[in-house]
Amino acid sequence: MIDLRDEAVVLRTYRSGEADRIVVLWTREHGKVRAIAKGVRKPSSKIGGALEPMAHVQIFLGQGRGDLAIVRQVSHLDRFINLRASYDRLTHAMAILEVVDAIPLDDVADEEIFVMLVRALRTLDTPEFFAALVSASFFFKLLVHDGSEPVLNECVSCGSLGPLVAFDAESGGVTCANCRNGRPISAEALELMQRIVGGDLANVLREESPPGVHEVNSLAHEAIERHLGRRLKVLRSTPTSP
Ligand SMILES: [Zn+2]
Repeated sequence: MIDLRDEAVVLRTYRSGEADRIVVLWTREHGKVRAIAKGVRKPSSKIGGALEPMAHVQIFLGQGRGDLAIVRQVSHLDRFINLRASYDRLTHAMAILEVVDAIPLDDVADEEIFVMLVRALRTLDTPEFFAALVSASFFFKLLVHDGSEPVLNECVSCGSLGPLVAFDAESGGVTCANCRNGRPISAEALELMQRIVGGDLANVLREESPPGVHEVNSLAHEAIERHLGRRLKVLRSTPTSP
């Protein structure tokens, strides 16, 4: 990797050696990048404070060893102060970061994912939006982005228009009363998912606790875990109650 300047969101950091920290970044133009920030755990470090998970930063990276770049400079673009002040909002943000970190796409740039990620964090930082469905909406949007848009308007097994009574994460959509594969789903949860995927998300996020919210969170978590092929730790603790 050569020197690069880019925007990034910090997905995760962990300690390395005496005073260093490894940061995992999702950059706008260079995909997922790992970098070492040297000396950042010393009190005198100027860059340590900017490299906290979910910070949106401008970063200058130098050539390091192997695929590990070296952090030369970093400055905040957004620290998401409101988000950090709320345990509920923070938990949704951590779930989103964990999912992005689990995307198996090393070294492949995906600017759309970067844009979706920053937008989700900004939404969580905006008091007029409620947090309850932000992570679930992000997961559905990621499925759409990856070409796995959930089928929500007809039975995924037989094409029947209804009644649609269950959601089958394995086949990626709802099923009718005759097929009945997957987990039972209420009419309210189905409508909520249709609104999220169908373009009414901005209004959905202005509702504090719309009917069906718990079901939708649970189904979104199941769907994204199945899509990524792995269990995710933080999702287990995402609050589903308002
Ligand atoms: Zn059917």
